[in-house]
Amino acid sequence: MTTPKRIEIPSFPGGKRIALTLSFDDGDTCDRRIVPAFNEWGLKATFNLNSALFGRTGKPAVEKHSGPGGHVRLDASEVAELYKGHEVAVHAATHPWLERLSECQVVEEILRDRQALEDLVGYPVRGMAYPFGTYSPKVIEILRSLGIVYSRTVANADPCFPPQEPLAWSSTAHQFAENPTVPERFKTWLENPHQSGVFFVWGHGFEFQNRQDWGAIERIYKPLSGHEAVWYCTNIELFDYEAARERLVIAANRRTAYNPSAIPVWVNVDGKLKSIAPGVVVPLED
Ligand SMILES: [Zn+2]
Repeated sequence: MTTPKRIEIPSFPGGKRIALTLSFDDGDTCDRRIVPAFNEWGLKATFNLNSALFGRTGKPAVEKHSGPGGHVRLDASEVAELYKGHEVAVHAATHPWLERLSECQVVEEILRDRQALEDLVGYPVRGMAYPFGTYSPKVIEILRSLGIVYSRTVANADPCFPPQEPLAWSSTAHQFAENPTVPERFKTWLENPHQSGVFFVWGHGFEFQNRQDWGAIERIYKPLSGHEAVWYCTNIELFDYEAARERLVIAANRRTAYNPSAIPVWVNVDGKLKSIAPGVVVPLED
């Protein structure tokens, strides 16, 4: 038995170098074209939804094909099935400017949306993106008390993760960013073995419709898919993994590890990757 010399805790599962996560707002019928493409390519996304703006007919919303603005909100009955395998997150019930509202109204907007979405998808909803990207210190304080783990803004940052304030989380880029474009920027990350971190892209489904450019889904997103060095995750999976990683206990003598979380956490033991199962003491010696 040899005691390991160095144990590192890599940022992402499987020791992957890059995490790719996506975020889409508003939940209109255009998402019906995005989600199947992402499913085919193995991409994971978070969809931020305004539950009070859904149709409530019990039948799929009827799409409008007439040019810019020709999009309609989904029917509530479509949500669970369409977004299966991805994350559904809060975008406030009615898409208000949150920082202009009284505290009570902010509470109502967030809690109402959270509960309604949970009723639809059947799991605890903990993520969020700000309507219009705007917020205030008071809004942040309220979100924290309502169990929201992170909230995306429309600002960009590099690196974007882990954020200093998860309730004011910047992304890497908007999907139609230029100079460089999203696929160009991603390519430089992939090709540089020293580049690691979270690559986080956001947008709206209806942008493809407004620009009359549905080919952009494939042009922007397909090049991001299918890479060995990349962990494809939803927004909340990123935060959950980071929390589990932070809680991992490595014995001072480096012979054992204990993972008190509910998901496996990966360590690098003298250059060899090892998965530490949750809830048990795992020997690290060879
Ligand atoms: Zn929005």
